[in-house]
Amino acid sequence: MRSCKLPSGAAMPVLGLGTWRMGESARRRGEELDALKYGLELGYPMIDTAEMYGEGGAEEIVGEAIAGLSTPPYIVSKVYPHNATRAGTIAACERSLKRLRIERIDLYLLHWRGGARLEETFEAFHRLRAAGKIADFGVSNFDRGDMEDAARLDKGLTGSNQVLYCLSRRGPEFDLLPRMRQRSIPLMAYSPLDQGSLLRKPALKKLADEAGCTPAQLALAWLLAQPGVVTIPKSSSRERVKENLAALDVKLSPKVLAELDRAFPPPKGKQPLEML
Ligand code: NDP
Repeated sequence: MRSCKLPSGAAMPVLGLGTWRMGESARRRGEELDALKYGLELGYPMIDTAEMYGEGGAEEIVGEAIAGLSTPPYIVSKVYPHNATRAGTIAACERSLKRLRIERIDLYLLHWRGGARLEETFEAFHRLRAAGKIADFGVSNFDRGDMEDAARLDKGLTGSNQVLYCLSRRGPEFDLLPRMRQRSIPLMAYSPLDQGSLLRKPALKKLADEAGCTPAQLALAWLLAQPGVVTIPKSSSRERVKENLAALDVKLSPKVLAELDRAFPPPKGKQPLEML
């Protein structure tokens, strides 16, 4: 699969599996584990999770899904802001590694800003990296100003910034995404289907018919067509996991791209970064 280069030089796949809302219910656990295992069998090379999801439950399911694989996927996880102190970040990472049953997290992110001082979090990230417990580190839900603060405080993120970005929420295109491109930091687009609500828009359905794909594939292919953007749709259904992967094969004509711009216009000015 195509990949994106991180500031560290490491490669990150452009498409992965999301896991928010997984690990919250014992009744749904089997279905969630099955969807992840099936996705890995199909060739998804990346899984995004967080200590927050199911309060560790999602990481445990991911750990079970990847246990024993000869080629484990690229793993992204996140620390809660209230755990992101110097010592707290390290302890949270150790807990995540245990639940994930791995020695190293490929990309470890601060879930959102607001708990501990950023200096402390970054110091802990550097220590974890030096100890080989994480390969790269980054942030999530950071708007342009937060990214500038991060750059001032640190020599530079080695990883990515994960933010809400999809056809129906194009705010980051105004100044965040261009600035990240300047600094060669990939944007990880979360909620690429706007949690499913984007798929109910008649304009998307119509254009998907024209492009010969499903609305979800069109929404994902549009993100994947943007330079420096990777994405992580979530599904607990085998069929939809398969459907979403096929977005990689969708070719968007200039006409469809122009019609998407008309139906889902890019921002005309600064919009504060939205967060779910
Ligand atoms: P998504 O935009 O990925 O949408 C997920 C929803 O869409 C689910 O209800 C899923 O249902 C449904 N769905 C998935 N594929 C299809 C399809 N092909 N057709 C119809 N419905 C579909 O939302 P998420 O919020 O889950 O975002 C993706 C991931 O991003 C998260 O799981 C998480 O890993 C990450 N994230 C990070 C955040 C952050 O703050 N850093 C915040 C939010 C998300 P079903 O499961 O039944 O298929």
